[in-house]
Amino acid sequence: MQKCKDCNEKFSWSTVYRSVWKGRDDLIICETCGARHRSNIRNRFVNTFLVILPMIIFMNYFSPSDNFLVTIALGIVVGFFGSLLTPFLYTYRVDNENT
Ligand SMILES: [Zn+2]
Repeated sequence: MQKCKDCNEKFSWSTVYRSVWKGRDDLIICETCGARHRSNIRNRFVNTFLVILPMIIFMNYFSPSDNFLVTIALGIVVGFFGSLLTPFLYTYRVDNENT
């Protein structure tokens, strides 16, 4: 898990996970020292590989059903579980603007 660049405190999983769903420009603010961190652009690719790609592969090759809606629903479940892993791979850089 990413640590604060200033005080080395680990960000909690839930802090990072919440920011993931607010969009790529979201800030993470260290709860200990208040340092602002911005999501790195490469997090978008991490997101694609862990969420979008498994969904597409599952829906194309591994769906147990021929029903389109069932396939979509299961694909979303697969993507959801993939998204739970994203905070472990996301990285952040210190944001020095507006401080
Ligand atoms: Zn800190």
